[in-house]
Amino acid sequence: MLRSDNRTITAFLRLVASRLDVPAIGVFLLDGANAALLTATDEFLHTWSQRRGTGPEAGDGATISGAVETQIGRSTPSRVDPAAFGLESAYAVIMPICSGSEPRAFLLLLSARRRWLGPGVAGALQDAADVLQSLLPTPVEQASPAAPADGAAHADENVAPLAHAAPSSHAEALRLIRDMCSTPDGGARGLLMLDLDRFRAINEALGTTAGDVILARTASRLARHIDPERERLARLGGDRFLILSDRSGAALAQYAIDLLDCVAEPFTVRDEPVQMQATIGLVFVEPGEDIPAATLFMRADRALKRGKTAGGNRVMPHDPCEDAALRDRSRLELDLNGAIKAEQLRLVYQPYVRLLDDSVAGVEALLRWQHPGRGELSPGSFMTLAETSGQILPIGSWVLREALCSAAEWPGETRLSVNISALQFQQADFIAQVDSALALSGFPADRLELEITETVLMRDDPETLGQLRMLIARGIRIALDDFGTGYSALSYLARLPHHRIKLDKSFIDDLDNPGTRDVIKAIVASARAQGIAVTAEGVETADCLERVRQIGFTHAQGFEIGTPMEDPGQILARPFRCATA
Ligand code: C2E
Ligand code: MG
Ligand code: MG
Repeated sequence: MLRSDNRTITAFLRLVASRLDVPAIGVFLLDGANAALLTATDEFLHTWSQRRGTGPEAGDGATISGAVETQIGRSTPSRVDPAAFGLESAYAVIMPICSGSEPRAFLLLLSARRRWLGPGVAGALQDAADVLQSLLPTPVEQASPAAPADGAAHADENVAPLAHAAPSSHAEALRLIRDMCSTPDGGARGLLMLDLDRFRAINEALGTTAGDVILARTASRLARHIDPERERLARLGGDRFLILSDRSGAALAQYAIDLLDCVAEPFTVRDEPVQMQATIGLVFVEPGEDIPAATLFMRADRALKRGKTAGGNRVMPHDPCEDAALRDRSRLELDLNGAIKAEQLRLVYQPYVRLLDDSVAGVEALLRWQHPGRGELSPGSFMTLAETSGQILPIGSWVLREALCSAAEWPGETRLSVNISALQFQQADFIAQVDSALALSGFPADRLELEITETVLMRDDPETLGQLRMLIARGIRIALDDFGTGYSALSYLARLPHHRIKLDKSFIDDLDNPGTRDVIKAIVASARAQGIAVTAEGVETADCLERVRQIGFTHAQGFEIGTPMEDPGQILARPFRCATA
């Protein structure tokens, strides 16, 4: 009977067997001059029993006695005397599975044919032996056959290569960090978080099975590279590993570089040469420093992210400045959470004019946050935070209600523009939110304009299109905000329904550049030909206003026309003209 905790190894043997088209493969654990069968493919057991006349029970007793060590080729597969293994005529290849320089087990292939002794098989077998090195039970587990099956490893066989040595959960990793750092005689001095570069692309290009082999192979290399007296290795899941070391300073940094070199040694997968690269986030722990394990983990994670952003294939040390920035961000996020309830949010309104007659065509609602400690904050300092934390959803629906209720009180027939974030737009109940704000305020739908960014249109899927059409069917107008800053394509202008584009300020600021001017002219001409209004954003001077007028923009917005104001009721009550008109 095969032991249940050998299932992963058996599955792996089947994989290797099918790849090499050599169905009979077994793994033997070495014990001095004896070798005990650990597990094997069914074909191996069948062939073995036919040759020896006995049916072996893998894992409990089928041993080969005698000087088997001399039969084991050390670096390349060598054909052996089948008689040494109780076989009569089969060909056998033995590949050692080494721990350090000593073989602790071997792979035995049986076949009636010689053809698989070619060089391709040698490489593949060497790979398989490397992988098996990390899959084999540790000597302690080896000694206790009653070791229970690892449920986590069964759920995800990819975890298996380090399952015997590594914590696979975040909590276990933190425990390991705590244990290592609190050792009285110095403890861990360094935390290294290693992540393979472009592993996803490798997985997609070569297939997940090859990806698993690469992962196991990397795990095995790392396991060989650590000094058990000084380091602990854990797999954090996916292609990420954590190494805790008692080395410090320059020695630790050099050790990290050595790890990258060890990962980068080329190997062969499916006859293809593969070279992996990795990035390491490195955290130095000063002796006696009492830093929570979660903080150390986060520091390593952030350093790793920076290393990846910088292009990968490097060791990136933790930057202490990041801690303050992160604390600040977390504080602000916490504060933002209570901002609506504490009535710290308010709206200001900025007018925009129709260039045909310089009359006010509408006002745009812009959010402000009166922070108790930091004073008034503009969206630039908290909008990304609101979006990444998801808080933009309650804030966005508050903005809609607040803007519509205020605008319903204003004199005249001016249009109201409200900015809508992509996340908000993609909510399943977004239309319902708009409907309820319209109903609550009594503001007419045909005077409401929603400003969305190109990110929303990028999806270009039936849901987005359907949602836009439903809004338009209510009489609501759609404006494309900050046009030109994203994935701007003139093709949007024709493909998706909208009524206005707002050309980003960065274009308007660059009007002196003839190239930019040509692009702007083309956009304006194309939009106007399709009956789409074009607003120039960020018009700050009279000269600029005149130039955008000359180019053919239909509308303009900016400090020259009007800054955002608390109560636009006054300017809406009387006919408004630009100063330069
Ligand atoms: P936006 O929608 O493009 O709004 C125009 C921004 O440019 C506003 O900044 C406005 O104050 C500023 N601005 C207008 N004219 C000029 C000018 O002549 N010169 C300069 N230098 N700036 C000018 P603000 O209020 O800081 O808003 C920044 C962005 O935050 C907005 O850009 C919009 O994308 C976003 N935002 C503002 N309020 C909301 C909101 O309620 N919801 C959502 N989702 N986003 C909002
Ligand atoms: Mg806007
Ligand atoms: Mg804009």
